[in-house]
Amino acid sequence: FKNSPPNVRALWLSTAQFADRDYLVYGDERITYAEAHKQVASIANWMFAHGVKPGDRVAIAMRNYPEWMLIYWACACTGVAAVGMNAWWTASEMAYGLKDAAPKVLFADGERIARLDEQPGMLGDTFLVATRTDKLPAGAVPWSEVVATGGALPEVAIDPDADLCIFYTSGTTGFPKGAQLTHRSSINNLMNMMFSGQVHGLATQRATGVAPPAEPPIPVTLVTTPLFHVTANNCGAYATTAAGGKMVLMYRWDPLEALKLIERERCTSAGGVPVMARELIAHPDFDKYDTSSLLSVGGGGAQLQPDLVAKIDSAVATARPNTGYGMTETSGIITSVSGDFFVDKPASCGRAMPTFDVRIVGENGETLPPGQPGELWVKGASVIKGYINRPDATAESITDGWLHTGDVAYLDEDQFIYLVDRKKDMVLRGGENIYCAEVESALHQHPAVAECSVFGVPDPRLGEEVGAAVVVRAGETLDAEALREHCASLIARHKIPRYIWLRDEPLPRNANGKFLKRELRETLKAEEAA
Ligand code: ATP
Ligand code: MG
Repeated sequence: FKNSPPNVRALWLSTAQFADRDYLVYGDERITYAEAHKQVASIANWMFAHGVKPGDRVAIAMRNYPEWMLIYWACACTGVAAVGMNAWWTASEMAYGLKDAAPKVLFADGERIARLDEQPGMLGDTFLVATRTDKLPAGAVPWSEVVATGGALPEVAIDPDADLCIFYTSGTTGFPKGAQLTHRSSINNLMNMMFSGQVHGLATQRATGVAPPAEPPIPVTLVTTPLFHVTANNCGAYATTAAGGKMVLMYRWDPLEALKLIERERCTSAGGVPVMARELIAHPDFDKYDTSSLLSVGGGGAQLQPDLVAKIDSAVATARPNTGYGMTETSGIITSVSGDFFVDKPASCGRAMPTFDVRIVGENGETLPPGQPGELWVKGASVIKGYINRPDATAESITDGWLHTGDVAYLDEDQFIYLVDRKKDMVLRGGENIYCAEVESALHQHPAVAECSVFGVPDPRLGEEVGAAVVVRAGETLDAEALREHCASLIARHKIPRYIWLRDEPLPRNANGKFLKRELRETLKAEEAA
């Protein structure tokens, strides 16, 4: 974006050149770039006409509808911070989010509006715009009125360090925190995304034996995770939009629906969290669909297990496996890896992106050498400013610009990062640290394991013992003893799960599709007590 400061308005303006290309696809709905530009200008003009000013916040509470992205760009272009409310939130969580973020306007879909009714009064002075509903609440403005506003995008000068959006963390380890992503942090993440695409993506296509495309393809991205998290938004949406690509939006994850969309829209990438890639390629009807447009399959947000790297490579002839490691607090990716690099080191999440300084930190704050696990700290322009209303949590997470990721990792001699666990998830068994991710990888190598989650179980003698919830693949049988024997050939004795719960139901997941260990542990405890 020549001669422009690192702000997201410049990114959006640059996409006007893609005019008649499809931008957003949802079901039978299709919006071109030209149409999107018109609607974004309308939304911005409507907001300004209703008292919203640069520096204010506006919240979005809806599933992955095209409106989501349009409201987001309208905010980004006018210096208004978009608050991504988690669409999975219950009424009381929504009330918390509205109080925390205090938005001037709430753009909500019918399902979220129904939740507002469950706890009357939570809107306070917030103006409501309603979409995807037949029942317009009293005082609310219909979406159709907003997009009919018309006019050109208002001129607004934007400070690159102003809040671009507030995204809540996934809430895996505690109550979600509202992270302040800035224009600068998000543009830097986009640069990292482009870097990783160029260096890792297309360059390694060659190794499949399929000739690399003469021109970089226009990305067609299957959006499988929610737009209110960085995976789908700052990574998927940004990389796609900047390149004039098409976003194919899914209401919810469904592997069969995904296969249909990949064939129909000729998707070039299918991502999300790794469990989605697992379900996609294992789908019984996988071979019935044309997936030859795919260039990359993978995902991040949780470990993409080594067995899956190889499975992706053999399942889709044209596509290579890829992963990224990132956090809400880094506005997107910290590392990424794909193709041959990934196949060579399938247990690694790749090298840090060029905008990051990296340290592995020991118990006493010392920097650890390669091979030794410690907490990963990163510093760079895509680190967030902080968390809204949580100076305590901000001060704990970020010191002198260094973000304490809360993840335990080690580096190898080539600077590849290996994540071993979240600090809070490690199992401490008789003074020995056991990393859940390592045990999960071992379990996944058993062909009858569909999904699994490993966690600590309180033990009077050892402090904690290793527990595993395992979902058995349909049509297969498996008993705990056989699974322990399988593990014995892969991991040390003390890491083999002492407790194994074989389950038929899928494990509980959050909106992003990540396993909810805390909830799972509580369910198991309740079931045992019953
Ligand atoms: P909360 O911070 O509210 O507890 P969360 O950490 O799950 O939730 P996110 O910011 O969405 O919220 O997720 C970031 C975390 O996800 C990372 O700190 C890391 O633990 C995990 N993660 C992300 N990518 C990967 C990956 N490729 N491999 C392993 N873990 C990953
Ligand atoms: Mg976190």
